[in-house]
Amino acid sequence: MDSPPKIIKVALDVPLSTRFDYLAGNATVDDIGSRVAVPFGNKLLVGILLDIKPRSEIPATRLKSAVRIFRDIPPLSPSLLDLFRFCSDYYHHPIGSVMLNALPAGLKTAKPVEMKRPRFFSLTEAGRLGQVRGKNMSRLLDAFIKEGTLDLESIRAEFPLDALRRLLDLGLLEESQEKPLPLEIAASPGLNPGQQQALARILENPNGFHPWLLYGITGSGKTEVYLQAIAEILRAGKQALFLVPEINLTPHLENAFRSRFPNTLIVSLHSGLSDAERLQNWLRAQAGEAKIILGTRLAVFTPLPSLGLIIVDEEHDASFKQQEGLRYCARDVAVFRAKQESVPVILGSATPSLESYHSARRGRYKLLELKDRAIPNATLPEVRFVDLRTEKRKSGLSEKLLAAISIRLERGEQSLVFLNRRGYSPALICSSCSWTPNCTRCASRLVLHLKDRRLRCHYCGYGERIPQSCPECGNLDLKPVGHGTQRIESELFEHFPGARILRIDRDSIRKKHAWGEMLEKIYRNEADILVGTQILAKGHDFPNLTLVGILNSDASLYSSDFRASERLFAQLTQVSGRAGRAGSPGEVLIQTEFRDHPLYAALKQHDYDAIAAMLLEERTAAGFPPYVHQALIRAESLSLEAAMTFLEQVRTIASGLGQDVTIFDPAMASMARLSNMERAQILFQSPSRQKLQNFLKLLLSNLNPAATRAVRWHVDVDPLEF
Ligand code: ADP
Ligand code: ZN
Ligand code: ZN
Repeated sequence: MDSPPKIIKVALDVPLSTRFDYLAGNATVDDIGSRVAVPFGNKLLVGILLDIKPRSEIPATRLKSAVRIFRDIPPLSPSLLDLFRFCSDYYHHPIGSVMLNALPAGLKTAKPVEMKRPRFFSLTEAGRLGQVRGKNMSRLLDAFIKEGTLDLESIRAEFPLDALRRLLDLGLLEESQEKPLPLEIAASPGLNPGQQQALARILENPNGFHPWLLYGITGSGKTEVYLQAIAEILRAGKQALFLVPEINLTPHLENAFRSRFPNTLIVSLHSGLSDAERLQNWLRAQAGEAKIILGTRLAVFTPLPSLGLIIVDEEHDASFKQQEGLRYCARDVAVFRAKQESVPVILGSATPSLESYHSARRGRYKLLELKDRAIPNATLPEVRFVDLRTEKRKSGLSEKLLAAISIRLERGEQSLVFLNRRGYSPALICSSCSWTPNCTRCASRLVLHLKDRRLRCHYCGYGERIPQSCPECGNLDLKPVGHGTQRIESELFEHFPGARILRIDRDSIRKKHAWGEMLEKIYRNEADILVGTQILAKGHDFPNLTLVGILNSDASLYSSDFRASERLFAQLTQVSGRAGRAGSPGEVLIQTEFRDHPLYAALKQHDYDAIAAMLLEERTAAGFPPYVHQALIRAESLSLEAAMTFLEQVRTIASGLGQDVTIFDPAMASMARLSNMERAQILFQSPSRQKLQNFLKLLLSNLNPAATRAVRWHVDVDPLEF
């Protein structure tokens, strides 16, 4: 007898509705969470099977049949499906898009996949006594005599595979099973009292949801606390998820994990991996084999059958927030996930986001503080100011800063010059009519890049040749104004012709291994002066670096973005924290016209609490987060008028809903034009997250997406960009 027709509900990554009904006679409840290939229009799409129903509202004659339900890998777990549903609800984003974007590319094609375990080989009896001719074969055999067992990847890295094949043919080697190695934890330093206390409190509460804010100054040894907390999780046989803002910028972190837990499978998940690598790492996490998952924001959606702990390092970092598609903040999703799965979560930072800081003050998060540097005698750097109002300066670098660099060169120590602007100079100007080149597609100036003789837009990537003369008046004298990293680099070359100068910014680290190689140079002391952007600020330990010079930070003091001060303080704390880590005292020189600004005063005192208190007071007074919750509807269109008209309609509908939410006037975005699209937005806010959520739900169900063909729009909950 035929089984009765069954209807499956499938999440697909297509616009409009995202749950679709298909016929699937062979589906069972065990298939919920599996991939399924279904016809859609004239295409074959892969979706996720969400539910099985006896009947559909759509007449059976119009239903199509699913082509295939994939049973190659375990289905997504109910808790992961819940996490996706939460994100879909909270960020008001279609479930199909949420789910499919969280999966590795390899799972989105209608082909089965297979988890590849590493293959191992070991010596046979004969091999132990064996001797072979041929250089590669005998080298490989020697390696086996030394190690006993080797895996294919490490053999491949050093020997031609032919040598392996021939040793196997000769019966000197055999393929062996991967032996589950006993957990090994390499020696760790004794903790100082602050670290001990923090770790003890975390470990006293190993189960259940405990949100910790680990607030520790730069160099206070937060990493050591993470490592020892993870060690306990591994002893309990569980998995740890470790999220960082940008993984490829912190290769040393991965090394620290690997050397601490030599027998543990550690996988990384980030956009720098090939599709195949990402898929395999994801599968090994899903299988529970990978015990430590090190990843960037997307890794928060990794299936983890025995999750025991989530850590979000540098939790204040804005790159946890995705700025397109599902506009989620991985830190917030991590906290939700920890709650849902009843596991502890540690958010760590030297300069917590004001949201987290405030949560800790209110007792929603539990505060752990590390107030001293971990290495005995390592002190925080001395912060000094170079007053640009009185100080002589012929170029971007003041005499005082040059003198300080000069002293470091004599002593054989390293200096770092920090400025957050890449390129040669942020603008070119005609000396006669003041014309400056702008991006034709964005509301932005083109940045001069002398190295490749081009003008570039840093927003959309557009580039053009540097004009020979002013297109307005024909004048040949076009002058660079302001300083970028390339210009500072050449000024340093002029001042210190013998010094080894390393420029570190998005342009110079573009090539795959460039950043790793530069880091090596810095560690090996093969660089004297580093010039760079915020890339340099993140979590590195440069033991020989004793001077940090900061240029151009004033611009953020009076920005229209209410988060600019918070970010500036975090950034300057991070870069300053690079100086004087290993016992030699550090110095920070800030070139500024506003040396009395409270933000700089707090920086000098290394007093984040002071600046946080000040900023929180401003935020209460002005009604900004964390005291209110915000959401934006952003509209983009070729015509500003169309975007504004749409937003006016949104406002009218919103005002009619009678909800207790503040509705602002539609306004142009601060980046008012990007890649030829005019951008505008409308802001909603409420002190109650729940009220804002209810309002958004109601509002969105009242907006008719079809009526807005000329306008693209989206919702951004907890926006960071305006
Ligand atoms: P943070 O992440 O808080 O900025 P790190 O974890 O990078 O600080 O630690 C700073 C330095 O202190 C590192 O070189 C680390 O090896 C060292 N360190 C950490 N804890 C200890 C300890 N208990 N004893 C000695 N050195 C330590
Ligand atoms: Zn001109
Ligand atoms: Zn542009």
